[in-house]
Amino acid sequence: MNYKAPRGTHDIFGANALAMSLLEQQARVIFKKHGFEEIRTPAFEDAALFMRSIGQTTDIVEKEMYIFEDRKSRKLALRPEGTASLVRAFIENRLDISMPAGRFFYIGEMFRYERPQTGRYRQFHQVGAEFLGNPSPAADAEIIILAQDLLFSVGIKEMDVRVNSLGCEKCRYLFREALVKYFCSVRDLCEDCIRRLEKNPLRVLDCKTDSHKFTGVPRISDYLCDYCKDSFNLVLSLLESAGCNYTADEKLVRGLDYYTRTVFEIRSDAVGSQDALVAGGRYDNLVGELGGQNTPAVGFALGSERVLLAARNTGFFDSFQESEKIFIAIADQELFNEAFSFAVKMIRNGSKSGKDISVFGPVNGKSLTSQLKFADKIKAVKTIVFAKTEFENGKFLVKNMKDKTQVEVLIDEL
Ligand code: ATP
Ligand code: MG
Repeated sequence: MNYKAPRGTHDIFGANALAMSLLEQQARVIFKKHGFEEIRTPAFEDAALFMRSIGQTTDIVEKEMYIFEDRKSRKLALRPEGTASLVRAFIENRLDISMPAGRFFYIGEMFRYERPQTGRYRQFHQVGAEFLGNPSPAADAEIIILAQDLLFSVGIKEMDVRVNSLGCEKCRYLFREALVKYFCSVRDLCEDCIRRLEKNPLRVLDCKTDSHKFTGVPRISDYLCDYCKDSFNLVLSLLESAGCNYTADEKLVRGLDYYTRTVFEIRSDAVGSQDALVAGGRYDNLVGELGGQNTPAVGFALGSERVLLAARNTGFFDSFQESEKIFIAIADQELFNEAFSFAVKMIRNGSKSGKDISVFGPVNGKSLTSQLKFADKIKAVKTIVFAKTEFENGKFLVKNMKDKTQVEVLIDEL
């Protein structure tokens, strides 16, 4: 039997693993600068949490969730996104008291049953941030700038920042009525659209099959109340004064139900058709709806795999050198113990120059030739050879693996 990774999942190793961990490292640095603290939540939750928060008529809940029953018939779901879990943790652990700044980030795997293609997988990674407890448009602007800073930090310079406002419940009520009226006049809507038209007409706007038919569709900007209009304009002017290039895009509606007012997306040409790298927005009602105190909130999620695709040609990851590899070889088997303990010392103490090194200890029972072959295979820069005569004189041989030259070095000097 040949086992394979399940469809839509993949193993991450070599350069990709290095790039993924560098992305996460950079993200931690940026989060620290913005005062965001980490939360790690479980990879699975009550399925009801996601159904309630993301919304019954969304793609995620209708077709993409991995739902299963555990041995006690609890209905659980692998998390398809991070916000619902984070809000659940915020309420359950009273984080408004212990982490009053309200700035949280998470990094982890998400799971969605989707048709796999480049940039779209069934298990993928997100880096996300949520800013809770701050109703100000300044929080929206900071979240957008933070997302942009993450992309800058891995060398992505070209990006398309799209921003829109979906208004509050009041604006949305009027907009919804106008939409229903409009959609009723559109012919040949797909089945999903017809069903969503009744339950949640805003979702129809997001339809991937029908959206080209929607010419002359009502625009949310015509329905925004004064407060929503003013706060949207403030978000835009804050972005402008921080030097963020954005496009106000009235067509932008996000795939989750919980958004209020600001929504945004950051896209890149470098990824192909799955071009959304980051998506987010404000969700002022979610904490209250999930049983917490009413708490305004704004956040985003960044798709790590897509960001790595977008960053692959920036050269950013190439500039990170692997550490220098040092191999310890033995010309005489009886020196194995000495060589081994020397390797351990070297691993613990590092190099004199402070250079990043990785040390590979000696191999037992192999000829010197085959040890040197192995050193070449792993691309060791230097091999330190323990040989009897030299060792008795307090020295060993240091072989430069590139030009194959070797010098005798005093043990004390290394
Ligand atoms: P899309 O419209 O591409 O399906 P979405 O609206 O479902 O995206 P969100 O739920 O907002 O995406 O997730 C935020 C980010 O996570 C996306 O912008 C994308 O970069 C990434 N992402 C979402 N789904 C996947 C997936 N199946 N595989 C890889 N990355 C994904
Ligand atoms: Mg999706």
